[in-house]
Amino acid sequence: MSDSAEPVLRVEGLKTHYDSTDGFLDRLFGRSRRVRAVDGVDFELREGETLGVVGESGCGKTTLARSVLRLIEPTAGSVYHRGEDLTALSSAELRDRRTDLQYVFQDPLSSLNPRLTAGDVVGEPLDVHGLATGSERDERVRELLETVGLNANYADRYPHEFSGGQQQRLGIARALAVEPEVIVCDEPVSALDASVQSQVLNLLSDLQEEFGLSYVFIAHDLRVVEHVSDRVAVMYLGEFVERGPTDAVFEPPHHPYTEALLSAIPEPDPLWDGDGIRLTGTVPSPIDPPDGCRFHTRCPRLVPDANSDLPADVWRSVAALARRAASADDVTSLTATRGADDRTARLGESTRRSGGSSPRSDPATGSGPTEASRETFGGLVREEFDLPETLPDADAEETLGEAIDALYDDRIGTAATLLEPAFTSPCERHHPPEYEVGVDHGIACLRYDDGFDEEAGTFEEGAEPAGSV
Ligand code: SF4
Repeated sequence: MSDSAEPVLRVEGLKTHYDSTDGFLDRLFGRSRRVRAVDGVDFELREGETLGVVGESGCGKTTLARSVLRLIEPTAGSVYHRGEDLTALSSAELRDRRTDLQYVFQDPLSSLNPRLTAGDVVGEPLDVHGLATGSERDERVRELLETVGLNANYADRYPHEFSGGQQQRLGIARALAVEPEVIVCDEPVSALDASVQSQVLNLLSDLQEEFGLSYVFIAHDLRVVEHVSDRVAVMYLGEFVERGPTDAVFEPPHHPYTEALLSAIPEPDPLWDGDGIRLTGTVPSPIDPPDGCRFHTRCPRLVPDANSDLPADVWRSVAALARRAASADDVTSLTATRGADDRTARLGESTRRSGGSSPRSDPATGSGPTEASRETFGGLVREEFDLPETLPDADAEETLGEAIDALYDDRIGTAATLLEPAFTSPCERHHPPEYEVGVDHGIACLRYDDGFDEEAGTFEEGAEPAGSV
């Protein structure tokens, strides 16, 4: 990797929002649904390095990858290649620039024209950019096939006649044909068997060394990213939440989302000494991302309110109930987002048995509709949200009791209003900026704010974290 100060690629404030309005009713009522797939991403790619971008499915990685090369038009922001803004180029100028910037797709077969032979798949970019003709073209095609480990005599075969790994080699040869300096690799091995994965990763590594390539490497698999990357960016719901040198990102301190991803690796890194925290639920919709820190609806380290006397985990459980009460339409849907392994969503089940909106049925007998007692109902709520029989703080217990009374009476809005003042986290009010935690290592989490008291597990009294409210 070069120490050159000027990055080969610099991305500033990149946003890609698109309209997902669909269906007759959306159009009839003029409803617009803007998907904020990429929502303000900055990064630099240095010469000869690999930047890994990792995150769960639906976090915006592929949209980011395509927006960087303008395969999808970004909504805002800039992408500078060698100092020139790609977002300001005309279509013709951009086409010329594609000799420097190439893309390798996740699904090799669907990205290769099935009517072209392997030779023409690889030779097409040479034709488009007028780089070689006649025997020189044929020779270059043979050379490219051999460079990626394919037999040059296979040039007359069609893509479907190759294995998955060979198809991806073909995609890489096609990208190499124009002698690019940057390749954006979008999940290039995720569709391949494990043994083939490592062959393709080794090929990419060899090519990088031989041709001085720079990669943006998109993946959902943290182990793959660790293997190939010099630096890593962790993406969640359209934003980077952590970025830094690979070694730094894989060792504490971590963003709680990174920590959860690391924790989910089946065979953790021997260096990993985390607690093994569990990430529940899926990435929320980018149409209406959560306020404050976008990870707050799933964060196992959610910062409790500074005035709470409850243990942090208990406070988080009540806060989860408060959030669900604030967003649920009725008591049945209070449990609707719980996972399939949830204890059969018994609270919702009790409601369904009673024929809809009333929670008053008896799940124990299964013979509804019958009136479930307030006590039974309260027990189900506490079980559902992992709450103790009695909270260890009298005021908090009184508030929770009143909220459960309100839920029992189908007054879900009242329950939300009761819980909201004491069970709203600073993480719901403040969008965290990126805090520098080491050399070239930033984490967008309020726990790294100066006002956060590590020992107390919350903010010092009167301290307001940075970040937009
Ligand atoms: S800001 Fe809060 S919700 Fe976001 S990652 Fe940090 S602790 Fe979790």
